[in-house]
Amino acid sequence: MTKDNLDAVRRHARLTPGYAARVAAATDRLRRAADEHAPRIVQATSLSAEDMVVTDLVARHRLPIAVATLDTGTLHAETLAMVPRIEAHYGLAVERFAPPAEAVVAFITRHGERSMYESVAQRKACCALRKLGPLARMLDGRDAWVTGLRRGQSAARAEVTFEEADENGRAKLNPLADWSEADVWHYLGEHGVPYNSLHDRYFPSIGCAPCTRAVALGEDARAGRWWWEDESAKECGLHVAEASRLPRWRDAATSALAAADIDAEVPA
Ligand code: SF4
Repeated sequence: MTKDNLDAVRRHARLTPGYAARVAAATDRLRRAADEHAPRIVQATSLSAEDMVVTDLVARHRLPIAVATLDTGTLHAETLAMVPRIEAHYGLAVERFAPPAEAVVAFITRHGERSMYESVAQRKACCALRKLGPLARMLDGRDAWVTGLRRGQSAARAEVTFEEADENGRAKLNPLADWSEADVWHYLGEHGVPYNSLHDRYFPSIGCAPCTRAVALGEDARAGRWWWEDESAKECGLHVAEASRLPRWRDAATSALAAADIDAEVPA
């Protein structure tokens, strides 16, 4: 079987029973979250398809929810290009949170540019520096954050709820938890929402360039993320499922940076 030349909308979009109700429910959840938490609520967008649905709902309904992303310094050009596209399309500002430049230089000097492939610990140290620290700064002073997590994305996300408390007690809202991939693409096509062109090239899940590849037909949506690791290790710490089972991400970030001898602070 060979890959087709269809764009991602034509490949994945399908109108299925209950779609309109799921859109209405997601909108209602976002509206209630904004009522409760604005101005201390932010959408943490990965700039991928699901997050574009959330950004479109926020913009379409003029909800007072900030939009912010992590600029890890290793994103694809296509992903970085989404920031000005979103800003031009919706007339809103996308906040960017990056790791401290001096800490990145120190990390690369000590460990090299490809240390993420050497061990899970090295990969997690890189994620701690480039993702968890900037996420902590994004969430600093905020009471709630919104993600595009869906249960159907992977086995590790099968239990995602619409609302949970993160390990620091903030409300974490996942308004698309019950959406299917077909819903996401139907919504993007229906509303002409801009999306990352890598999705057209068989990247269903998009992270940093060194750690993301296209998937083959029939592969799991997240098979292209950290593909050299065991399935059980495949999260970067941004979405800790249960604080009692997994290390708090702030603690994990702090210890990973300390282990790498990086002098960078992870705020509470
Ligand atoms: S996903 Fe890869 S490049 Fe990005 S922060 Fe994690 S290890 Fe580093």
